[in-house]
Amino acid sequence: MNESIFNGIPPILPGLFRFNRNKNNSPELLGGFCPQCEKHFYPRPSRCHYCLEPLEEIGLGDTGKIYSFTIIRKKAPFGLPEPYGAGFVDLYAANLRIFCLFDPAKLDSLKIGNDVKLAVAILGHDGFGTPCLRPYFIPLFPNESLKAGGK
Ligand SMILES: [Zn+2]
Repeated sequence: MNESIFNGIPPILPGLFRFNRNKNNSPELLGGFCPQCEKHFYPRPSRCHYCLEPLEEIGLGDTGKIYSFTIIRKKAPFGLPEPYGAGFVDLYAANLRIFCLFDPAKLDSLKIGNDVKLAVAILGHDGFGTPCLRPYFIPLFPNESLKAGGK
């Protein structure tokens, strides 16, 4: 995953992810962290939902475990492929469950409890027909799982 191949393609929203230059430009989710409450948020709201303090931007890593998912087989919005997958992932880098998209090419591999790895690619459009970058998770097979030392 190299940032340079996406030159000029905007993210669906700013501040959702970054490309980590220390890790071969692999993508990492960005979220918010409240130092008062020690709570994480994704996407980052302007203020903490619990104490209303401003939040710090924080990296949320690129791995997690599937908590639940569904496959939507009709009326994909924003130019997403049909069918597409969405659901919840528990991130390993933070005590946080986030709503996310899954790799549309690997829907048959989705299984609750399996590890996933973040990817960013041109996926759908911004609502006005302009292609944009979206983060999504690729399901890993058990033999690729993070605990087995895979990527
Ligand atoms: Zn707070």
